Amino acid sequence: MAGKGEGPAIGIDLGTTYSCVGVWQHGRVEIITNDLGSRTTPSIVAFTDTERLIGAAAKNQDSINPANTIFDAKRLIGRRFSDLSVQSDLKLWPFNVIPGPADKPIIVVNYKGEQKQLAAEEISSMVLVKMRETAEAFLGRTIKNAVVTVPAYFNDSQRQATKDAGVIAGLNVIRIINEPTAAAIAYGLDSRGTRAGVRNVLIFDLGGGTFDVSLLTIDEGNIEVKATAGDTHLGGEDFDNRLVDHFVQEFNRKHKKDISGNPRALKRLKTACERVKRLLSCTAQTTLGVDCLFEGIDFFFTVTRARFEELNMDLFRNCLEPVEHCLRDAKMDKTMVHEVVLVGGSTRIPKVQQILQDFFHGKELCKSINQDEAVAYGAAALAAIMDGRVHEMVLLDVTPLSLGVEVTGGIMNVLIPRNTPIPTKKEGIFSTQNDNQTSVFVRVFEGERTKTKDNNLLGEFTSSSFPPARRGVPEIKECFEMDANGILNVSAEVLNTGEKQKITITNDKGRLSKDEIERMVREAERYKVEDEENKKKVEAKIALENYAYDIRNTLMDEKNNSTLTEVDKKKIQDAVVNTIYWLDRNQLAEAQDFEEKMKELKSVRSPITANVY
Ligand code: AMP
Repeated sequence: MAGKGEGPAIGIDLGTTYSCVGVWQHGRVEIITNDLGSRTTPSIVAFTDTERLIGAAAKNQDSINPANTIFDAKRLIGRRFSDLSVQSDLKLWPFNVIPGPADKPIIVVNYKGEQKQLAAEEISSMVLVKMRETAEAFLGRTIKNAVVTVPAYFNDSQRQATKDAGVIAGLNVIRIINEPTAAAIAYGLDSRGTRAGVRNVLIFDLGGGTFDVSLLTIDEGNIEVKATAGDTHLGGEDFDNRLVDHFVQEFNRKHKKDISGNPRALKRLKTACERVKRLLSCTAQTTLGVDCLFEGIDFFFTVTRARFEELNMDLFRNCLEPVEHCLRDAKMDKTMVHEVVLVGGSTRIPKVQQILQDFFHGKELCKSINQDEAVAYGAAALAAIMDGRVHEMVLLDVTPLSLGVEVTGGIMNVLIPRNTPIPTKKEGIFSTQNDNQTSVFVRVFEGERTKTKDNNLLGEFTSSSFPPARRGVPEIKECFEMDANGILNVSAEVLNTGEKQKITITNDKGRLSKDEIERMVREAERYKVEDEENKKKVEAKIALENYAYDIRNTLMDEKNNSTLTEVDKKKIQDAVVNTIYWLDRNQLAEAQDFEEKMKELKSVRSPITANVY
């Protein structure tokens, strides 16, 4: 728990598979280790009959509780249930997601014997709380302000939903920043003073669930994003899944049994596959081993790096397409790129590195920034800049997709082109299509296609009404404003009447309402209280167990027993046996019950002293 005083702003990389937190301290970024000593924390939340678990504790039990172990919340956040990517992900998830109001995906879990429905924002908020608490424990201070990262391809709805997750977690999200931009900041800090002149840098970020490529120019600590591209749906988990499919087939071939319908076996296999994949980054061959994988069968199988590469070669090669896309957008030739920087755990895969290096004609790849931590590093540096503790860097971010309105014929009229530095404000004058039309229907889209039907509808609204006139006469000024967080506001103003009426786009994308956020904040508080109660309970149980076993062990020690009468010894022995018997049958008792039992045991006047208590 936090100590006194509000601490500095922190940087959080809220990853699809892992999250990482950093803070600026003693003139540099410190990546903070969690309670288990790890520098990254699985973005996983689990619900059991007795408790809620976050991070490694949740990941550890996923194979015995797959239906209530929630991962990939980042693939759901800010999306609609009917979204094609959500529909395809559903098939891979062992937990239940149902359509909610406004087509919002709702995660259904069983918690303490009851069904609970949760939004992706709530799951992400729980991960954010874990990261905040990790920082609070390290700094001994309360943390309020944070910079949180999102993939470059996140649209307005996904960014908003990430901000909402921050609010539910009790954080003030001072900035939402693109992950590659954060990595660039980290890189800028690293390179300051060591490299002169303007550098073109390609950031190649292949993480657990997303792939981002960005082209930046770095000049004396000033970073400008020239172009971004990527795939919101490519990462280490896809490589894990290829291995899973492979081993499901091998299991079938060897044992004539199909495990693909057993979520628990699949989950355990996937965990083993991820381990194998990591090992194959530094060794040419390893063995996958899972005890009692299915119907009591132990599964052991040797796999080579070459086999792993073959299984994933198409995915690895696909990684080059966004690189080419980015170069085209930035109007650069690959020879103009000074540095190619690797970010994200999956860039440790030797084949990925080789494909990229070959593409850049054998250029040495830059790995000086720790791949798993670069994004959090940059977010923490930006947090320090915003806190006023570091002054040297100017940051220019860009819009990841073109933004515009639909005009006659279903055509996309772009107001803010893709890769425009933000914050930005663009206006356009529009008019009516028909005689005597008294309002216009404004439909806002994002995307690069000329027909709006191929782009992503962000929202729609009807302008205020105006007097009838010939077509083309009324003038409506539409204004697109994107803030530094990449959040878009659209307004339409009818000019002809002289009346300046402004309309802000209504939110119809399944975002959480203020009431819902407040409800979730209250729920989050309740979860916290329950977690604390559970912690107290577990601590009281362990204390009693330790005390009882310690007395028993001490009694067995002849030297310590020498001062005891036989009567004393019997009395204490009985009390200990009774306590252990009671403990065996009351593992789920309340903290108070354990404390009572402890008092009882202590009251059996003991002339011997337990070693621990
Ligand atoms: P990130 O989101 O950047 O933390 O990346 C996490 C992803 O990187 C996960 O899919 C990990 O399995 C993967 N990863 C981490 N270390 C390695 C490694 N040594 N070899 C291959 N993949 C790795």
